[in-house]
Amino acid sequence: MAQQFEDRFHRKFYYLRLSVTDVCNFKCNYCLPDGYKPSGQKNSSFLALPEIKRVVRAFADCGTSKVRITGGEPSLRKDFTDIIQTVAETNGINKIATTTNGYRMEKQVAEWREAGLTDINVSVDSLDPRMFYQITGENKFSQVMGGIDRAFEVGYQQIKVNVVLMKDVNSQELPAFLNWIKDRPIQLRFIELMQTGEMDDLFQKHHVSGVGIRNQLIANGWLLKARAKNDGPAQVFIHPDYKGEIGLIMPYEKDFCESCNRLRVSAKGKLHLCLFGEHGVELRDLLQQDSQEEALIQRIQEQLQTKSVSHFLHDGNSGMTPHLASIGG
Ligand code: SAM
Ligand code: SF4
Repeated sequence: MAQQFEDRFHRKFYYLRLSVTDVCNFKCNYCLPDGYKPSGQKNSSFLALPEIKRVVRAFADCGTSKVRITGGEPSLRKDFTDIIQTVAETNGINKIATTTNGYRMEKQVAEWREAGLTDINVSVDSLDPRMFYQITGENKFSQVMGGIDRAFEVGYQQIKVNVVLMKDVNSQELPAFLNWIKDRPIQLRFIELMQTGEMDDLFQKHHVSGVGIRNQLIANGWLLKARAKNDGPAQVFIHPDYKGEIGLIMPYEKDFCESCNRLRVSAKGKLHLCLFGEHGVELRDLLQQDSQEEALIQRIQEQLQTKSVSHFLHDGNSGMTPHLASIGG
C-alpha cells in the first residue's frame, strides 16, 4: 500500500464520496429549488468509467475502504450499475454505498445488489405524500417507498433513510418517523439543514438544530452507539424497543470536523477536501492512464496538507458550494 492519506491534523481518510453526475430530476427546495441547470463549461462531461476506476484505485491504494457513489442523482447515469461493479471490483474497497432519491430503486435495486452495492441511503423528507411533493417537486412518494420495500426483498438487512428536518415544513413529523422505524430495520438519518451559496432565506427560516432532537432522544431512552473507523459523520442512537436506529448529522456542532475521515471527488474529477469552502483541485488530467497513479497519489497527498481544521460554518461561511448537488452531499 502507498502511504495512507493523512492530513496535518492526523486525520486519516478511509472514506471517498464520489459524485458521478450533477444532474438531478428532483427539485428539493433546500438543494435545487429550480431544478438542475447545466453549469458553464462546454464539452466537459462527467467522469467516464475508466477514470472512475483509476481514481478509486488510487484511493484504495492509500487506505480508503469505503466509497459512496453520489450526485446529483447517481442512478440517472445509464452506466450506474457498471460504476457500482467497477468500484466493487477494486481491491481494498469493502463498502460500496450510494445516496439516491430512490427514483429508480424499485426497478433497479436487484441489479445494483448483484453488482456489489453493500449500502443504500435513500432520501425521504416526508412520510406524507403531499408534503413529499411540496419538498421535492415530484409526486414520487409511493415509488420511493416501493423502492425501499424492494431493497429489503432483494436482501438488504438495513436501509438508511436521509431526512432533512425543516421548521414549519416537516419537523412536526418526527413522531411519525419514529413510529415508522419501530418495526423496520431502517436507520433514519436526520441531517441538519446546511446553508449553501444559492440559498436565500430558507436556512434562516427553517433550520432546526440537531441538539434539540438529541436531547429528546436521550430523554426517551435512546443510547449512543460506538463509531467504526470508516463510518460517516452521524451520531447513531439505538433503543431496545425499536428495530430501527437514528443517526444525527449535525455539521454545526463544535468539533464536527475533528472526526472527518472523508474526501470528495466531484463528477468532473475535482478533489474537494471539504464539502464547504474551496474550488476543488483538478485530478482529471491524471486519470487518463493507469501509469499516472503515482503522480495522482502525490497530488492528493500534497493537497491534503492544505486541508483546514474546520469548515467554519459557524461563522456563516457557506463556502463556494452553490448547492450540495454540485459536489455530492
Ligand atoms: N440525489 C441524491 C439524494 O437526494 O439522496 C443524492 C445527492 S443529495 C445532494 C445527498 C443528500 O444531501 C440528500 O440526503 C439531501 O437531502 C442532502 N442535502 C442536500 N442539500 C442539503 C442541505 N442544504 N442541507 C442538508 N442536507 C442537504
Ligand atoms: Fe436532487 Fe438529491 Fe438535491 Fe433532491 S437533494 S434536488 S434529489 S440532488
